[in-house]
Amino acid sequence: MLNEFKEDAQIERDLHSAISGRQFELYYQPLRDLEQNTYIGAEALIRWHHPKRGVLFPASFINIAEQSGVINAIGSWVLEAACRQLNLWQHHNADMTMHVNVSARQFFSGNLFEQVWQLLIRYRLKPKTLILEITETELMGDVRHATLLCQELAELGVGLAIDDFGTGYSSMRYLKQFPISKLKIDRSFVSDLTVSRESREIVSAIIAMANALNISLTAEGVETVEQEAFLAKKGCHQAQGYLYSPALREPEFAQFLLLAQNPVLIAH
Ligand code: C2E
Ligand code: MG
Ligand code: MG
Repeated sequence: MLNEFKEDAQIERDLHSAISGRQFELYYQPLRDLEQNTYIGAEALIRWHHPKRGVLFPASFINIAEQSGVINAIGSWVLEAACRQLNLWQHHNADMTMHVNVSARQFFSGNLFEQVWQLLIRYRLKPKTLILEITETELMGDVRHATLLCQELAELGVGLAIDDFGTGYSSMRYLKQFPISKLKIDRSFVSDLTVSRESREIVSAIIAMANALNISLTAEGVETVEQEAFLAKKGCHQAQGYLYSPALREPEFAQFLLLAQNPVLIAH
C-alpha cells in the first residue's frame, strides 16, 4: 500500500510538468455509422508520454489528476487540442464529429461553458460537431448544477453524451431531466452479447428506448462481426471498437479514414 501511495504521489508531481513539457497526446478512435457504413468522427483519448515510464493510458493517471485538481488544466488542454484538430479535419470533411471526455471536476469547474463557447468561435466549429462525454455518476453528483450546465451547453448546440451507459446509477431520471443527445452503451454489455441472453435483452431494451426518445446511440467495445451484426439488426446507430480500429495517432487516423474511403488504395 505504501509503495502504491508513493507511486501515486510521484505521478501527481510528474503531472504538474506534463502539460508544459508537451507530454500529452490525443489519440483518435474512429466512430462508425452502422446505417451509412462510413466513419463519421472520432473519440479523443488522452495518452501520456512519460519521460521515464513510456506511454501511459488514462487509467493510470486520470483519477490522480482528478483528486489533485490537475484535471482542470489537463481537461482544458484536451478540449483545445481536440477542437484544433476538428477544425483541420473539417477542411476536408465538414461533417466530422469529435467526442471529448469530460471529467466530473472539469464539468463542475464553473468555466466549462465559457471555454467551449470560446473554442467554437476560435476554431469556427459547428456546435453539433462537438460532443462532450460525461458518465452517469458524474451527472448525478450535483443534479441541480448539472441540469443548468447541460441546458446551457445544449442551447449552445453542443452534443452531450452519457458515457459507459448502464454502469453508473442508471437512473432514468436524467434522460428526462437533461438534454442528452447521445448514449454510449458500456462495452461490458457488448462484450458478452453472443454468450449472454441477459446482455442481449438489456442492449435491445436500451436501443429501443433510445430510438423511442430520439436519442442517438453508440455501442462501445465492438470487437467481433457477430456483435456488430446484432447491434445493426436491432437498430443501433453507431459503433466503436477494436473491430474497426483502436485509438490512433493523428497521422495514422487520417490514413485510416483515407483507406476506408478508397479501399482500392490498399492494393497499392
Ligand atoms: P471511455 O471514454 O469509455 O473510452 C473507451 C475506452 O475503451 C478507451 O480506453 C478505448 O481505448 C477502449 N476501447 C475502445 N474500443 C475497445 C474495444 O473494442 N475493446 C476494449 N477492450 N477496449 C476498447 P482508454 O483510452 O484507455 O481510456 C479509458 C478511459 O479514460 C476512457 O473511457 C475515459 O473515461 C478516460 N479518458 C480518456 N481520455 C480522456 C480525457 O481526455 N479526459 C478525461 N477526463 N478522461 C479521459
Ligand atoms: Mg468516452
Ligand atoms: Mg465509455
